[in-house]
Amino acid sequence: MIIGVPKEIKNNENRVAMTPAGVIHLINAGHTVYIEKDAGMGSNFTDAEYQEAGAEMIANAADVWEKADMIMKVKEPLASEYKYFRKGLILFTYLHLAAEPELAKALVETGVTAIAYETITANGTLPLLTPMSEVAGRMATQIGAQYLEKSEGGKGILLGGIPGVKRGKVTVIGGGVVGTNAAKIALGFGAEVTIIDLNPVRLRQLDDIFGSSIQTLMSNPYNIAEAVKESDLVIGSVLIPGRKAPKLVTDKMVQSMQPGSVIVDVAIDQGGNFETVDHPTTHDDPIYVKHDVLHYAVANIPGSVPRASTVGLTNVTVPYAVQIALKGAVKAIQDNPAILSGVNVMNGKVTYEAVAADLGYDF
Ligand code: NAD
Repeated sequence: MIIGVPKEIKNNENRVAMTPAGVIHLINAGHTVYIEKDAGMGSNFTDAEYQEAGAEMIANAADVWEKADMIMKVKEPLASEYKYFRKGLILFTYLHLAAEPELAKALVETGVTAIAYETITANGTLPLLTPMSEVAGRMATQIGAQYLEKSEGGKGILLGGIPGVKRGKVTVIGGGVVGTNAAKIALGFGAEVTIIDLNPVRLRQLDDIFGSSIQTLMSNPYNIAEAVKESDLVIGSVLIPGRKAPKLVTDKMVQSMQPGSVIVDVAIDQGGNFETVDHPTTHDDPIYVKHDVLHYAVANIPGSVPRASTVGLTNVTVPYAVQIALKGAVKAIQDNPAILSGVNVMNGKVTYEAVAADLGYDF
């Protein structure tokens, strides 16, 4: 099979879907890998390194898309890439289709087999989302701490305080992978940390992991309102796989926060957890202010630490790509339930129930 890797074109997206190590893995399995020229530059992988690994460098994106049997990407294709969609093409990437109705329509109409990293499920976990969630969670606290600085428009507090000075309060809503990693860094900074989740089993696990160094709370409107009101930094990281994110923090709750507080809505890639977040922001223009509260809603946070993110992502995607390339999409889907759970669109149909429900397709 020919595997093609185009350069990412989303704003400030410096990750790439394949490292030279991944190229070697695929070539050793008997495949051909086309990488668009300079695709790895944002992650500090040079064309020479890819060539040395055995990849063929292709001068333009059109040729990569047109010649490849399977396209591997990081972020969902943008509208300017829809023209490359065709029947039989396998697209293996993050898709987040519940928040991308136009993309879903284009995939359905053209007959692409679209396998989404984010819905691949193995042993009850989302292994291709995990490393990026780890990065985004760790970054969320780091970003929040930065925007709490006065020079950035924040209220001018230090999350860890100092001896004799109050520590900052961080509330994390959604104690999954993003939330746990956000909490780890917030604790490392010395903040007072509350994690809110709906799943009592998860709350117990968090209690086991962090002990009395954090406060856990059951997710309900009362607890969320109380915690948000008192917090300097609120991080939204609630996911219902494949579905649009629930808006758990209302406009009124945001109004109750102190001026200069910060919201980081990590779940924005699924629509966001805050009523006051109605659009994603970008790395170029990451912040807006509503009710005197700074809102950060970048949908591709890991893109700002591309080297770490690219390596973390490809560590987990390439083994699946090898299986799909070896067997073809149909056999790989039949043989591996994890790959089956990644299929979002196939043969002109939306094949992932939650996406179909959210976008109004028959399932
Ligand atoms: P996860 O499944 O590990 O965690 C989600 C958590 O939300 C679970 O613990 C679940 O119990 C909890 N939850 C569900 N309903 C809830 C509710 N009503 N109240 C409170 N908690 C609830 O998911 P994750 O890997 O941590 O990802 C979280 C979100 O972050 C996803 O939308 C993911 O796509 C997104 N994400 C965004 C970026 C970015 O750059 N913006 C990067 C990585 C991940």
